[in-house]
Amino acid sequence: MLAVRFVLVRTSHPGNIGAAARAIRTMGYTRLVLVAPHKYPHPEASAMAAGADNVLDSIVVVPTLVDAIADCRLVLGCTARRRGVSLPEITPRDAAVQVREAAASGEVAIVFGNERTGLENEELIRCHAAVHIPADPSYSSLNLAQAVQVLAYELRLAQLEARPLADAGPKSDPPATAEQMEYFFGHLFGMLDDIDFHKGRSPVTIEQRLRKLFLHANLDQREVRILRGIFDDAQRMARLAKDRG
Ligand code: SAH
Repeated sequence: MLAVRFVLVRTSHPGNIGAAARAIRTMGYTRLVLVAPHKYPHPEASAMAAGADNVLDSIVVVPTLVDAIADCRLVLGCTARRRGVSLPEITPRDAAVQVREAAASGEVAIVFGNERTGLENEELIRCHAAVHIPADPSYSSLNLAQAVQVLAYELRLAQLEARPLADAGPKSDPPATAEQMEYFFGHLFGMLDDIDFHKGRSPVTIEQRLRKLFLHANLDQREVRILRGIFDDAQRMARLAKDRG
């Protein structure tokens, strides 16, 4: 996550700088670079940052876009509308995947233009691709900080989705195989018979439903063992009840 910087070019309103700082901070990012901001530092920036102080404290201010991206291996420029520059145009979602891959082994910059004029062609030609948020074509220009939020959010989603399953929690057993699931269903359906769940009705529909339910659950081998332990006990209780009755 740390190899990504958000670059704001010639920002007019200091409030947007603060709001952008807050936007990236909420998504786990901290690096903001300002290229020739009109007014910074400014109390409005601090006010709109609403406590995202570590982002403001570490802001870097540089004179040109070239300075801001010199060490980057991937540079993406965000544009509200098509420009006369033939760059591949991608969605924030595609961008997030590219960023995730590139940031694993180098620095990445995501670049945003001035509120009124956007990015100059001169700046866009330094970018590997143009990112366009597919807004309503008749009103496609988002507020600067809101565009930053959309990009930061997509980056975070891509990051979270990429995390290997093992990191996601204690579910570390191998997934149940198709064969194990067949034994599981045999056991489940046998148990339902033993506890007289069907009461004379046909079991076909409910068995199909249960199959769907448990296949969707993507059980691992441990979970299958736990459930089959429960089925064993249910069958034992059913036998006891029968013997008594
Ligand atoms: N009138 C300007 C609007 C700039 S809005 C223009 O047409 O370019 C300020 C910045 O927010 C833009 O430079 C861009 O970086 C970002 N932005 C706004 N809307 C966007 C959109 N729909 N897709 C991608 N970036 C957008």
